[in-house]
Amino acid sequence: MAWDFSTEPEFQEQLDWVERFCREEVEPFDLVFPAAVRSKDPKIRALVQGLQQQVKDRGLWALFLDEELGGPGFGQLKLALINEILGRYPAAPGFFGTAAPDTGNMELLAMYGTPEQKERWLYPLMNQEIWSAYSMTEPQGGSDPNLFKTNAIRDGEEWVINGEKWFTSAGRYADILFVMTTSGMFVVPKDAPGVEFVEGGPRSHSHIRYNDVRVPLDHLLGPEDGAKVLAQRRLGGGRIHHAMRSIAQCKLAFDMMCERALSREAHGKVIAEHQMVQEAIADSYADINMLRLLVLWTAWTIDNSSTQQARTQIAACKYTCAKVLKDVSYRAIHIYGSLGTTDLTPLQAMWAGAPTMSVMDGVDEVHKVTVARNVLKDHRPHEGLWPTEYYPHKREAARKKFEALFAEDPELERYADGIAKYMANRNR
Ligand SMILES: Cc1cc2nc3c(=O)[nH]c(=O)nc-3n(C[C@H](O)[C@H](O)[C@H](O)COP(=O)(O)OP(=O)(O)OC[C@H]3O[C@@H](n4cnc5c(N)ncnc54)[C@H](O)[C@@H]3O)c2cc1C
Repeated sequence: MAWDFSTEPEFQEQLDWVERFCREEVEPFDLVFPAAVRSKDPKIRALVQGLQQQVKDRGLWALFLDEELGGPGFGQLKLALINEILGRYPAAPGFFGTAAPDTGNMELLAMYGTPEQKERWLYPLMNQEIWSAYSMTEPQGGSDPNLFKTNAIRDGEEWVINGEKWFTSAGRYADILFVMTTSGMFVVPKDAPGVEFVEGGPRSHSHIRYNDVRVPLDHLLGPEDGAKVLAQRRLGGGRIHHAMRSIAQCKLAFDMMCERALSREAHGKVIAEHQMVQEAIADSYADINMLRLLVLWTAWTIDNSSTQQARTQIAACKYTCAKVLKDVSYRAIHIYGSLGTTDLTPLQAMWAGAPTMSVMDGVDEVHKVTVARNVLKDHRPHEGLWPTEYYPHKREAARKKFEALFAEDPELERYADGIAKYMANRNR
């Protein structure tokens, strides 16, 4: 019977270390030196690398990768337990070598890269010697990949890429861009001639034009025409990692809510003693634990089968984490009163993050459609006019089972008929 919610003591020790390290080292460092992981300043880099070395010494670098690729090979369940700590600290993934969008791109290279491609891009990405971005969404459509127009045409020993991409996160800070085209997924150096950053777009999510951008043949990743499959593989992993980290955000909002409820007085008592405040706490507690169990069960399913087999669960995690974050951060803001409406605590950003989470990695509606379609495959329509659980038919069928008994014992038959009459009258 392997249905166990406990954590091995040795791994719990790692989790305790991660929690302490993030609270005592990462968070204070980030408050004084924001975005330090990507800084090119040699002094800042040295400080960052000092902290990262501690992570490496604990065997916690590049958590999401298998051992043969330089990660600890934890699998998804252990990763989930670590991510639900890291997600509380925005800078933490960068200090553990697990920052998006690089993680998804590294996974693509790990899964589809040739040995030369891994040497050229995967290992430098792992060591944060270079940075990457992912160019999939286009200005005319994001949810529906059939609307994507960016194409690549082979010309001798080169591919020529043309198209326009929108919302390429961290594109300006990247050295290489993973570009989805109708002819496959390409790795494009950011400084390749023809890569044009369109001015005036969103600050952190670049609007990029690819104008006759030429790359050598070995910049195609995976098979020709394989971009949709690669994109699905990439986003499947990314979604579950986001869900793991959003548990941490929900827990942070919850801890803040409880602390404030115990600290503030109104109308004669500490606000934690008002029943509607208690309702907010009780609902949040249940919502977070439901989300957490869904995410951990999904992570366990991936470890015991595959990302593909867990796709219905992953889709359910995707829209559930946005909903729980929305509900819990709203309640926390409300309990904080006027302070909650300012940007002096993390709550406003969390609240604003909920609709973002509903859109990124595919809009909620598309994931709900996936869940409903897959779930419906295990169900059938009922025969005839009435549903299977229609009581009159069920009772009629059940009675047949006892006919032999009634033939032997008419008293029992009279008893059953009496109950049937009573139930028939009651149901009207
Ligand atoms: C923070 C953030 C980071 C991102 N980073 C990247 C990145 O690095 N690289 C990248 O390529 N992209 C990135 N994206 C873009 C993201 O992939 C798209 O926003 C997403 O796929 C949705 O596409 P869209 O924005 O064009 O919305 P649209 O496709 O236009 O959808 C808009 C709305 O239409 C409705 N809708 C769409 N389809 C359906 C449906 N089937 N049923 C019912 N209603 C529907 C929904 O209400 C939906 O919200 C990022 C987005 C965000 C928010």
